[in-house]
Amino acid sequence: MANMGESMKKLATIHRSTDKHWVGDGFPVRTVFSYHSQGMNVSPFLLMDYAGPVEFPPATKPRGVGWHPHRGFETVTIVYQGEVEHRDTTGNGGKIGPGDVQWMTAAGGLLHEEMHSQEFTKKGGIFEVIQLWVNLPSQDKLSPPHYQAITDTQIPSVALNSDGSFARVISGELRGVHGPAATFTPVNLWDLRLRAGNKIELNIPEGFTTLLFVLKGLVQVNGAEEVAATELASFDRLDDLSGSLISLYSKQESTVLVMSGQPIDEPIAGYGPFVMNTEEEIRQAMKDFDSGRMAEMIAAVEAN
Ligand code: MN
Repeated sequence: MANMGESMKKLATIHRSTDKHWVGDGFPVRTVFSYHSQGMNVSPFLLMDYAGPVEFPPATKPRGVGWHPHRGFETVTIVYQGEVEHRDTTGNGGKIGPGDVQWMTAAGGLLHEEMHSQEFTKKGGIFEVIQLWVNLPSQDKLSPPHYQAITDTQIPSVALNSDGSFARVISGELRGVHGPAATFTPVNLWDLRLRAGNKIELNIPEGFTTLLFVLKGLVQVNGAEEVAATELASFDRLDDLSGSLISLYSKQESTVLVMSGQPIDEPIAGYGPFVMNTEEEIRQAMKDFDSGRMAEMIAAVEAN
């Protein structure tokens, strides 16, 4: 049992996402959380889609989602199984496979396409990917787009105990180890791999939004509630009550994504692929990315 000391972060809700929908023809996703329903409660995060795990048979034509714009935030793509091929209108692109992370700062805006890679398409297999949308502070929403291709080997691991459980630190800091992803506001992204029957503790700053998503397995939180695969646990962040400690007991071998970050206390106005602060800025984004302009930008990439 966990020691329920006064610094324990309090579990607020456990949310199970059930409805699956397709993003393009390549991503069978469940939306795990979204600012549309949860608003500031998930800030600085906006949305998380969990694709798969689903087996795709071998095919000839890559599945995915074709050219579309983004403005005002970052998309973070974490590949667990399968392979994604990406290219965008700033000239960036590449393949991301198991363990790799693509941290794309759309900011002022770009168009991109996200597809299964040629190799994955040909061979088929299990596809399992998370895409997280991270908000930007208003002062950075129109900054130049930026792209961080982070490979599996660049992501440091931290042992969580002496029994083989560990965390991969994608961004932020855990037990003195820093993740490679640069962020605009403090964001901790930890990919936990827990052996069955292990108890571990995590320290997360008070006042941070704290979300825990179980991809696989079953974990008991703070010696009480259990969180199963595809469930999201969120923690209280009331400043003087939120505490800093979380204890996890893995009842089975588990894969858990821990997302925490300093909330961005600014208004959110969003429409589809654009997330800004005001409706006027959304109207401007729609003007800037009207179909004619988009066709031009895509043609310029296709010509190369
Ligand atoms: Mn996209």
